[in-house]
Amino acid sequence: MYDKDNIFAKIIRGDLPCNKIYEDELVFSFYDIHPKAKVHALVVPKLEVVNFTDFTLKSTPNQISDFFTKSSYIANNILKLASFKILTNNGKESGQEVFHFHIHILS
Ligand code: AMP
Repeated sequence: MYDKDNIFAKIIRGDLPCNKIYEDELVFSFYDIHPKAKVHALVVPKLEVVNFTDFTLKSTPNQISDFFTKSSYIANNILKLASFKILTNNGKESGQEVFHFHIHILS
């Protein structure tokens, strides 16, 4: 069940501050508050989906394509990372703490 008051929903709405990297009508990106690498960015879709599984089941092919294309643009063209890792925790047992789907970009 999606909680509209999760931390990332509040960040997208502007109810909580963040160190923003990119925003458009479908995607929001900001720096992780507890970085686990020299560069640690998060990318979230502006959709009410709790994790990767939920995102892929409930989103359209265009929404899924847009999310990953923008994530690549953020890593390559905005952050200008030559080498990076992308990661998503899918479910509490995997380490997911915030239940709004997001990917981590680590470099
Ligand atoms: P996950 O464990 O995959 O759900 O990742 C959640 C991430 O969100 C963690 O790396 C946290 O450090 C990060 N995080 C939690 N609260 C905030 C916040 N207010 N601003 C930015 N990042 C946050």
